[in-house]
Amino acid sequence: MDLKIIKTKMPKELPDDSTLGFGQMFTDHMFNMDYSPDKGWYDARIEPYAPIMMDPSTMVLHYGQTIFEGLKAYRTSDEKIQLFRPERNMARLNRSAGFVCIPEIDEAFVLHALKKLVAVDKEWVPRAPETSLYIRPAIVAMDHYLGVRPSHTYRLFIMLSPVGAYFSEGFNPVSIWVSDEHVRTVRGGLGEAKTAANYAASLYAAQVARKAGYTQVLWLDGIEQRHIEEVGTMNIMFVINGGLVTPPLGGSILAGITRDSILTLAREWNIPAAERPITIDELMAAHEDGSLQEIFGAGTAAVVSPVSHLAWKDKVLTIGDGRVGPMAQRFYKAITDIQYGRADDPFGWIVPVEEV
Ligand SMILES: *Cc1c(COP(=O)(O)O)cnc(C)c1O
Repeated sequence: MDLKIIKTKMPKELPDDSTLGFGQMFTDHMFNMDYSPDKGWYDARIEPYAPIMMDPSTMVLHYGQTIFEGLKAYRTSDEKIQLFRPERNMARLNRSAGFVCIPEIDEAFVLHALKKLVAVDKEWVPRAPETSLYIRPAIVAMDHYLGVRPSHTYRLFIMLSPVGAYFSEGFNPVSIWVSDEHVRTVRGGLGEAKTAANYAASLYAAQVARKAGYTQVLWLDGIEQRHIEEVGTMNIMFVINGGLVTPPLGGSILAGITRDSILTLAREWNIPAAERPITIDELMAAHEDGSLQEIFGAGTAAVVSPVSHLAWKDKVLTIGDGRVGPMAQRFYKAITDIQYGRADDPFGWIVPVEEV
């Protein structure tokens, strides 16, 4: 497929790298591509960043038939721009598509377009320590229709946003709140898909947690409310007796790429790493007998997000000594060193963005 590139005549002013937040600012260009049943995916184009005009009846606005991805471009000290395991994001976009009846994309082509887009806006990849360019691909249902059925037409777009360091003053451990009243998803639902519904389902509990003074919700399974699943919108990892434990991908957990990278590193470092069910009762017992050493979230935005406190019913546990644990620190350093080109890439995770 052809990829048209139309450059803006009115480039915006680049932001100050030291004041970047998350997802508030967007670059000069975006990628757009449309789908219709007779043409398939067509009209792939990089063009000036602009609003998407939508009729009020556009299906995505009503029934949430949409999926997305999140990844980053990193600038190395020698001014190269690189991506981290982006083929995984493309594969996951297609997996998510299947759950909500969205037609598949050509993964290699969309990755090619994504690289071109980043290359066109490469000046927007920030330079300050631990900053990056966040990349958001999404697909939305575009039919004008209020009936409930899968849309026939779709728009795929990719937007870019320069983002600041997640922990601007060094690691800042978070406190989490176990919800045994709300559920995010259930087996057989959409938990394995990166789709809007799961985020909509998480908002209310997150607000309850925040009002109680906690940063994130620890989600238990939707059926028995016993098995630990995820934390906020991250996968969760425990260090118990020196080994890593994370819940298995049993149908209601998103297959995180950071999760997979951490498991890969753990195996490389001969750290026992188990993907197995873990209940809230087991966690309480492990805290009680002193074998629970660390808890941290894993996801692209933060890489690793250490947990200092966990609240469940009337108990508030302090995890370890309430500071960042050595395991969280080690995974964070190893992964970010590869992402920013400060270390070798023994697993072939890095994909360079070439000049246009
Ligand atoms: C995106 C996401 C993650 C993390 O996945 P990464 O590929 O590591 O960024 C975890 N859980 C949920 C629910 C997510 O949407």
